[in-house]
Amino acid sequence: MKKRNTILLLGIVSIIIMISVQVFILRGVWRQRNEMFDLRYKLLSQEALAFINRRLMTDGFDTARFMIDWYTEQVVRNDLPLIKDDSSLTAKKNEILYHVTYILEQEQDLSQYLSSYFERQRFEKDFDHEIVINNLELIDFDTRIPIYESEDFLDRRTPPSAENNGPGTQSTTRILVNRYFTEDNNYRLYFDYYIDFSDKQKLILKETAASLTMSTLSIIIVVILFIITYRNLMEEKRLSNLKTDFINNMTHELKTPLSTITVAGKTLEMEQIRTSETKILETARLIGKQSVHLNQLINMILEISMWERTQFQLDKKKVAIEELMNDIVESFKTGCGNCASLQQKYNLDGAEADVDIVYFTTLINNLLSNAVKYSAVDPVIEIEGTKENNNLLIKVADNGIGISKSDQKHIFDKFYRATSGNIHKYKGLGLGLYYVKKIAVAHGGDVTVTSKPGKGSIFTVIIPY
Ligand code: ADP
Repeated sequence: MKKRNTILLLGIVSIIIMISVQVFILRGVWRQRNEMFDLRYKLLSQEALAFINRRLMTDGFDTARFMIDWYTEQVVRNDLPLIKDDSSLTAKKNEILYHVTYILEQEQDLSQYLSSYFERQRFEKDFDHEIVINNLELIDFDTRIPIYESEDFLDRRTPPSAENNGPGTQSTTRILVNRYFTEDNNYRLYFDYYIDFSDKQKLILKETAASLTMSTLSIIIVVILFIITYRNLMEEKRLSNLKTDFINNMTHELKTPLSTITVAGKTLEMEQIRTSETKILETARLIGKQSVHLNQLINMILEISMWERTQFQLDKKKVAIEELMNDIVESFKTGCGNCASLQQKYNLDGAEADVDIVYFTTLINNLLSNAVKYSAVDPVIEIEGTKENNNLLIKVADNGIGISKSDQKHIFDKFYRATSGNIHKYKGLGLGLYYVKKIAVAHGGDVTVTSKPGKGSIFTVIIPY
């Protein structure tokens, strides 16, 4: 149990470590792809800007600049002289900033140029743009009127030129394309132009799909392999336990007739026994009976081990099942000395099936002797035969101790004996039902069980006809 838990724990820990390593690697791959994506579009944008400048002789902001100059001229001439107090000036500055941003957004042509350039190069053409003003001043003759200055701009030691494309603040999704500086008659303006791919994550996901699938698959495979190995290990362990139990049971089973024979042998040596012929005969009979029992046990084991190696041969004959059942039940009754009340009910209309009489008899005998063996009160066994589709169903129902749900799954396994209750109270080797199942399957049929502890059991043998 302790070893089993250690193996399970070790397995789970290694799986967790493996998943963590995979997640770590994938995160690295994801980050790298993200950076590559940004770099690719940044380089592409540079190419595009150079191309637009060369071919169209513009940077995409000509109209915007002209409009801002016209607007700022109006503001400097007409609006600002009228402002007297500070709060009106602050409100006016906000309005100016808003308006200039609006003009830049609306009147720029760069986005359109970039988009068509990207499309021509077979890259993603759908993106959002963002214009961020860093510094805006209005100019009234020689006086500069500061309107807005971003914190980021204050931090910069050297103001960027139009060509300068140095690193700036960049959010995780947007890509800085260029920084612009414009000075006109009525204003000075620094601003940044960004592009932002809304489905960037989706595009990267598409690129990483292969490695993502591979690593998920490898995790799944390793987990499945672990489960299979663990289950096999547990199954091996269960079988080895069953074998140990079998050896213990067999020793127990063999010891009883052997010790009886030993005692009988010793008895025969005694003076007073040798004088009585009846006593000698009685002891000899006892030895004979026990030897037969021993022989049966050994034969059973030998037969089972033979089955393991070869598919056993059935000598099938067409037999009327009702008649055969009557014979088997009658001989069982006599054989066990009327040990149980046996009730039979058949609805077979003389149906005949191809069966090997010897094996079929063994099958029914095993079920009947179990029904007697595993009973707490006087055994009452009901045997019923019916036809269903192309099968004959033989039900053997008893009023015995019943079988728990968990045991029902294993009772047809080799060497399996139910562990609940006093196992030595009911002698056996755990081979009877294994035999039953093998015979039923060899006939092309099956055997099933329904039972409840304390409520008896019903075994149903299915034989095709
Ligand atoms: P054995 O009787 O030698 O133990 P079997 O293969 O015949 O082996 O049965 C396997 C187990 O199934 C038994 O140990 C017993 O617990 C359970 N079993 C079989 N038949 C019955 C029955 N009629 N009622 C209750 N338990 C049964």
